[in-house]
Amino acid sequence: MSGDPKSSPEAAELAAEAMRHLWWLRDAGVRELSPEGPRRPVPPAAPAAAAAAVPTSAYSLADKGCGSEPLLAIRTSLGECQRCKLHSGRTKLVFGVGDPSAQLLFVGEGPGADEDLQGEPFVGRAGQLLTKMIEAMGFARSEVHIANVVKCRPPGNRDPEPDEIEACEPFLKAQIAAIRPRVIVALGRFAVQTLLRDTTPISRQRGRWREYEGVKLMPTFHPAYLLRNPPEKKAAWEDLQLVMKEFGKLPPGRGA
Ligand code: SF4
Repeated sequence: MSGDPKSSPEAAELAAEAMRHLWWLRDAGVRELSPEGPRRPVPPAAPAAAAAAVPTSAYSLADKGCGSEPLLAIRTSLGECQRCKLHSGRTKLVFGVGDPSAQLLFVGEGPGADEDLQGEPFVGRAGQLLTKMIEAMGFARSEVHIANVVKCRPPGNRDPEPDEIEACEPFLKAQIAAIRPRVIVALGRFAVQTLLRDTTPISRQRGRWREYEGVKLMPTFHPAYLLRNPPEKKAAWEDLQLVMKEFGKLPPGRGA
């Protein structure tokens, strides 16, 4: 390494990331910081040679949400899915994104307008907030995995309907079996109530450990809801701290 590190692109990116982290913590009500809670290094991207090893599929390990042979097999089996009526309105099927063997999986309801266009979950304003939440927890977005209950955008952002969930949820279950996360964070009323088959309001389910497909699940608020209700960020941060504790990460301000 040579040159002034303060002026390098890496330093600028680190500074920007630190600011995003601090903004989220401020909004979540954190008033004191400690040097605890080190970030894990970002793992290297999947080698190009590995991506080239599956020449027979229309999809590859380099596609969003793939990255491992089991996930690629699930994506291949989905194909240009028409198993439910949501296929007719989609621009792009949103399979997932992130580390194919992530220990932490976030599950939302379904793609919105930005996600439908880009083919990646949580990329709009709510997605930016989710990224801040992930970084505040001491993870990089690339270290976790993000998926949805349904993979095609419901028209007008309505809730997915029972037949659509029935058609699509098996693929989420397959993704969970392939990723084998240690913890799932379910984001928002719809994802929580659907995954847990429990119509109790999210306000009473959040912050309590549950289980889905044999994996510990933490219900919390959806980032879009937090954008509309900023005071609730404090409660969401409490939920995320429980998840951090599961990973042995000290929340900021709780240093020894
Ligand atoms: S929502 Fe799921 S089941 Fe329905 S068309 Fe899209 S990928 Fe297929």
